[in-house]
Amino acid sequence: VPDRKKSGVMSDAVIKASALYAFASAPAQKSFKFLWHAGEPLAAGIAFYRRAFAQISDVAPDGHHIVYAIQTNGTLINRDWCKLFSEYNVDVGLSIDGPASLHDSHRKTWRGRGSHERAMRGYRLLLEHGIYPGAICVLTKNSLSCPDAIYDFFVESGFTSIAFNVDETEGVNTNSSLAEAEAAYRFFMQRLWDRWREDDGKLYIREFRQTLNCIGGLKSDPGFVREPDEVLPMGIITIAKDGSISTFSPELASTESERYNNFVIGNVLRDAPLDVAGSVAFQKINSDVLVGRNNCKDQCAYYSLCGGGFQSNRIAEHESFEATETITCRLHRQILADVIIEKLSGETRQNASERAMISAG
Ligand code: SF4
Repeated sequence: VPDRKKSGVMSDAVIKASALYAFASAPAQKSFKFLWHAGEPLAAGIAFYRRAFAQISDVAPDGHHIVYAIQTNGTLINRDWCKLFSEYNVDVGLSIDGPASLHDSHRKTWRGRGSHERAMRGYRLLLEHGIYPGAICVLTKNSLSCPDAIYDFFVESGFTSIAFNVDETEGVNTNSSLAEAEAAYRFFMQRLWDRWREDDGKLYIREFRQTLNCIGGLKSDPGFVREPDEVLPMGIITIAKDGSISTFSPELASTESERYNNFVIGNVLRDAPLDVAGSVAFQKINSDVLVGRNNCKDQCAYYSLCGGGFQSNRIAEHESFEATETITCRLHRQILADVIIEKLSGETRQNASERAMISAG
């Protein structure tokens, strides 16, 4: 995240305009999710969110269902935050990278100390208030050799849902510790799968569930293609503190580009959704993303299970939406799919041989 030490927050005018913009962008849609993320959203303070939630619900059309979500590192959570989350039924995501030994090597306080203890204190407070956050765990090169420690940590801590992100080259993160870690990633996912299957898949692991859903989709319909939000024009609308709008990958909002006007396609204080959709800035990005998606369709054997996302990674690694393969898609789509398909095939063979042994007597 760029400008991490800048502490300004979104003004009331931008919040209200953002909500109006979101509702106007999809008039037929009745359900909206407002997600606060990037940097540490809780640093904005409880009063900020009370005001923001009130403003959004004030301008929400009647009958709309609004979900508020916050992705936090957990270190600032106290009882007052928990009360706010309960009151507004906020969907809380906790960024936690497994046990302290792994988490603390990257997630540090401004004073350079590990933040695991504080994050877990926040997590326990959430549980006390009946709030069950999903975890986002970033995989780095170090964590790939520790699948058991990571799996045990999340199960023993009582998490019910986990999503793995990879340390990726995108936005202002210009290097990935996973650039040459394909074998290690494969090992990690193989072992994680074994542990998960032994537990009957009780923990919701996003990567496994989503890939299994896509394999199921493909089995029932050979024309199935995954459709991640980040390939859909305006599927995700990202609004920065100053009201500037971007779409496709949220990370593009923190990426500089002369060619694409820093990926800014408008501003909620000034522009209506139809103007933004018709703008030259949006049309250029949209058509290049489509070319990239078509390139994926023509060139990649994993297209059905992927759908050709990873826009910010393409820009960071190739400076082009028209490029296809990136470190992240190679790991988190291609190798992941290989692991799951190999494991499923192995399980099918084992079940068949067990059935044959039973019928043989
Ligand atoms: S795995 Fe990579 S190259 Fe293949 S379709 Fe997805 S984004 Fe494109």
